Amino acid sequence: MSDIGKNIEQVHARIQKAAREAGRDPDAVRLIAVTKTVAAARIREAAEAGLDCFGENYVQEAREKIETLADASVSWHFIGRLQSNKVKFAVGLFDLIHSVDSLKLAREIDRHAAKHELVQDILVQVNVGREAQKSGIDEEAAAALVRDAAGLEHVRVRGLMTMPPFFDAPEKVRPYFRQLAQLREQIAAQNIAGAEMRELSMGMTGDFEAAIAEGATLVRIGTAIFGERT
Ligand SMILES: *Cc1c(COP(=O)(O)O)cnc(C)c1O
Repeated sequence: MSDIGKNIEQVHARIQKAAREAGRDPDAVRLIAVTKTVAAARIREAAEAGLDCFGENYVQEAREKIETLADASVSWHFIGRLQSNKVKFAVGLFDLIHSVDSLKLAREIDRHAAKHELVQDILVQVNVGREAQKSGIDEEAAAALVRDAAGLEHVRVRGLMTMPPFFDAPEKVRPYFRQLAQLREQIAAQNIAGAEMRELSMGMTGDFEAAIAEGATLVRIGTAIFGERT
């Protein structure tokens, strides 16, 4: 078996173990293989090894790979910072956009989704660590953004996403994951029309087990599958 195949097996095993230890159904955690800088041939290898969902950070890079891999029946998610002038390419290309952090961006997505006569699924990205350099809306403003975005006809809000502060110990990140999970609960309790609030996109190579322990439904993993990025 190839390195990628072995890595995928290991990551799946770790996801299952973390879910069971948390008393959760392993099938409730979806693996998104993060493929920024990864060549299309290696992504194909991962798809042949059974992965069906890939996450990209840059629209132009993603467009090329998605075209190259058009024959593979896989799903693509957008997880990077989305610039307004790239929205027209992103809408419809990605099944889920994880990184919506302003009403302006949500409205731009709505406008292009309307043109394509589709409804774009999105997550609201929350900056739980309040880091100046990170994308994401502040926690206090998240519910209002969910409500406003959910009110747009061609946008459907599916939940929340976060990129927590970096620590070398996953246990230190865990309170931030808990914070996002609690925020999801609070917003879900408001029963906002047009917002499903089921998904929690959190956890990467260094901390996905902690994220699963706190309720992650989407884990975004690159390095553990494809190795260090150059
Ligand atoms: C690169 C990236 C990941 C994956 O990070 P790894 O540490 O390689 O698993 C996850 N989420 C986002 C938003 C990223 O940019």
